[in-house]
Amino acid sequence: MADNQFDVIIIGGGPAGYVCAIRAAQLGLKTACVDAFKGKDGKQALGGTCLNVGCIPSKALLDSSKQFWGLTHNLPAHGISVDGVKVDMATLISRKDKIVKQFTGGVGMLFKSNQVTPFFGTGKLLKGNQVEVTGFDGSKHLLVAPNVIIATGSIPVELPFAKFNGKTIIDNAGALDIDKVPKRLGVIGAGVIGLELGSVWRRLGAEVTILEALPDFLGIADADIAKVAAREFKKQGLDIHLGAKVSKADVRKNAVEVTYADKDGEHTLTVDKLLVAVGRRAWTKDVLGDATGVKLDPRGRVEVDEHCWTGVDGVWAIGDCVRGPMLAHKGEEEGVMVAELIAGKAGEVNYDVIPSVVYTEPEIAWAGKTEQQCKDEGIAYKTGTFPFAANGRAVAMNEPVGLVKVIANAETDRILGVHMVGPVVSELIAEAVVAMEFKGSSEDLARIVHAHPTLSEVVHEAALSVDKRALNKAN
Ligand code: NAD
Repeated sequence: MADNQFDVIIIGGGPAGYVCAIRAAQLGLKTACVDAFKGKDGKQALGGTCLNVGCIPSKALLDSSKQFWGLTHNLPAHGISVDGVKVDMATLISRKDKIVKQFTGGVGMLFKSNQVTPFFGTGKLLKGNQVEVTGFDGSKHLLVAPNVIIATGSIPVELPFAKFNGKTIIDNAGALDIDKVPKRLGVIGAGVIGLELGSVWRRLGAEVTILEALPDFLGIADADIAKVAAREFKKQGLDIHLGAKVSKADVRKNAVEVTYADKDGEHTLTVDKLLVAVGRRAWTKDVLGDATGVKLDPRGRVEVDEHCWTGVDGVWAIGDCVRGPMLAHKGEEEGVMVAELIAGKAGEVNYDVIPSVVYTEPEIAWAGKTEQQCKDEGIAYKTGTFPFAANGRAVAMNEPVGLVKVIANAETDRILGVHMVGPVVSELIAEAVVAMEFKGSSEDLARIVHAHPTLSEVVHEAALSVDKRALNKAN
């Protein structure tokens, strides 16, 4: 095979693209991955948004800020006190940068060991499954393969009246690189990014005000879970305004004056930094050449079927640039599915059971349907809940806030959804996902032996509670 000829070319080296590349190579396919991301140092960096400016760096800062907050908010309850606590921002940020480098470099090493060929620059699909690569130096060359996978990801939505300037009005990447804790941080959007990065800077000492356009808090989560989370965030000092319509953001020297209206009228909020976190949109600009036959939907996403096939022979698209939740793990599994389908295997993604996690404190996690969705769809259901306050391990950890809620079909008992808010529920949700993948019932969860004392007993008791037989609370 000529040097520019491959079995598979993937455009995009984020979690969807790089995982797809590795799986394709494992299956014996000659694989290339084209990626345009540049790291903080201006050099090529594989791993896309997730590794460079998303999941991984935000978790690093969430953990640093959690440790800091814990010194003054959790340790005193253990009888431990510390004086003179301070944060060295340079160390905190450089720790995050090192973690990012470790993982982006790790993808490069995985490519090497799996014999995936990386090309750095932008990739464009041309007619006839050719990919034009424009290198960082402007040089162009052509790759060809019977299978091309578009995995170009997403970019933050910009508000026309609050354009990102990288200094006072910032996106998620900017909010991961603030070198000094701002006195006042404004956030537009109480979604996942607004809550996670709002929490980081609140815990490090900023006054954080979040303006959310919708009247309900975290409408994508189950209402019982969102209620507990809202109460806790308020206690932590996150000032969340619902039904707030922002109309202006004027930059004044080193501050931003934000104008918004809610049910009480018009207000002005002055902040030192404004994080705009109102969602992301598919990044498909300049990815398609003329007459490729690949279609975009009205939201600019590549149109695909349930197997991520675009309808054009040998052209597929995965991850944030197609329909479905913008989650790294969803993109990864689509990458695996497509690589396996290309190799003649049976690839499949179960879109009904994709876990969602918000890495705040308490953490929020769920999989499957919310109670409201069951109502809207006319499904007869039953629920069981159990609070972390009645769990020995959670109380011993001094983290008794939150609950687990199991929703099961009223007739068949099959688990329809599991919803959690509490300590480390990002990990606990995996049990629910496994149970649901195996079409489990609430009784299945209830009859499984759970180690004592562990947080997982809360899942067990919530499942028991569906049948009104929880053991450590009144039913
Ligand atoms: P999001 O969709 O989670 O939240 C955006 C919020 O902004 C919504 O609540 C929306 O109602 C609100 N909003 C929209 N326009 C507004 C306006 N003009 N004024 C006020 N509020 C407005 O989006 P995000 O938080 O920006 O995150 C982007 C994507 O990245 C999401 O798809 C998210 O799932 C993903 N992400 C996931 C994680 C995770 O899994 N932990 C972490 C970060 C990001």
